[in-house]
Amino acid sequence: MAIVTQAYRFALDPTPTQRRALASHCGAARVAYNWGLALVKISLDQYQADPSVRVPWTLPELRREWNRAKDQVAPWWIENSKEAYSSGLDGLARALKNWSDSRSGRSKGHRVGFPRFKKKGRSRDTCRFTTGAIKVLADRKHVQLPRIGVLKTHESTRKLARRLEQGSARILAATVSRQADRWFVSFTVEVERSIPVSNGETTVVGVDAGIRHLAMLSTGMAIPNPKALERSLRKLRRLNRELARRKPGSNRRKVTRRKLARVHARAANLRRDGLHKLTTTLATEHGTIVVEHLNLAGMVRNRYLARALSDSGLAELRRQLGYKTTWYGSRLVVADRFYPSSKMCSACGWVKVKLTLAERIFTCEACGLRLDRDLNAACNLAKLAQHVAQSGWETQNASGADRKPQLAGRVATKREPSSQHCNGHETGTVESQGSDTLTVRSSQALTAQAYR
Ligand SMILES: [Zn+2]
Repeated sequence: MAIVTQAYRFALDPTPTQRRALASHCGAARVAYNWGLALVKISLDQYQADPSVRVPWTLPELRREWNRAKDQVAPWWIENSKEAYSSGLDGLARALKNWSDSRSGRSKGHRVGFPRFKKKGRSRDTCRFTTGAIKVLADRKHVQLPRIGVLKTHESTRKLARRLEQGSARILAATVSRQADRWFVSFTVEVERSIPVSNGETTVVGVDAGIRHLAMLSTGMAIPNPKALERSLRKLRRLNRELARRKPGSNRRKVTRRKLARVHARAANLRRDGLHKLTTTLATEHGTIVVEHLNLAGMVRNRYLARALSDSGLAELRRQLGYKTTWYGSRLVVADRFYPSSKMCSACGWVKVKLTLAERIFTCEACGLRLDRDLNAACNLAKLAQHVAQSGWETQNASGADRKPQLAGRVATKREPSSQHCNGHETGTVESQGSDTLTVRSSQALTAQAYR
């Protein structure tokens, strides 16, 4: 048995009074965060001139300063639970730590910017409770939070309630947050779980998250979007066009924007639910699951709806697989970020120079393979793990993460029969090219990051 931390999230049905209380708590958290950030900035400036100045940096330090100043800064502080202010200051302390860790090279990945002020309506409304009366009520339809009281949940809390009743779970914190106009509560819970070393499966499956499908598997199975998600996606496209027509600053633009946010939130929820079902199946029925690398930096910058949607789907897929593979004893492999999973031919290894999002069918100019674009990508991902599995995990483990693979140049190989690619599954046709020599990438070019 191992203790793992996991989250249970429920949509809420608050009364109008409770909505105001929730918004007030989130606002209070933001006020405390911004106040703390301003203090840190001033103190940093003073520190430049006088190194004896103490800059509050940790949560206890920030909280001490807040308690000293709150009567002046926020004379209304008594209206909200003290957890709200603590939550804002905690967020700030974490952001400061992330920033200093990133600067000193203690944490890997992208450089983290210095914390910025949170703006009402622009930043996420959220507030975290760590002490006080945090409960999931026995009727499985209500939860209790400090100061806010008993809230009705939109869905049954039975999964969490059952664990709490059995004594195999303990609530550490509750976070309320708003998405469009819907409120959620997410419980951070310590759960006792038996973690298997392996699920006994040896199969490898490549998964490509998309927009047309929820996902495409290298087995040739397309997991369709839930019907409700399809509807939401259609609405999303329509509203996006509508938004483009609206005059900046106009009231109608505001209305459209609000509608858009609502549909966006709904689509994200529907996809998350669909993915949960899929990732549980994948993690229990396959030994190794391979997914694409997610370019987080590019994700933020891209303003195309299609790209943004498929990126958010991939991010959610990876997040869920990340912990479910641990729970169920399977293995997650994330492709190197230079691995051209969609641009490479899964039959012969030829790489297309440019592939637009509009091209739904991958056509290989070397061997003539015609295959659904997503299936081709999924097959390439599956191949990657087969390769990694053969050459041993240890040597491949996370080492060459950000190294560009070298092209091996031309390698002569006998053309394989077309049915060979991708678990024998075939949707495209291979036309005769009249040549036996093909360009393939060397096997050294395939690097992968193996997680666990
Ligand atoms: Zn080919």
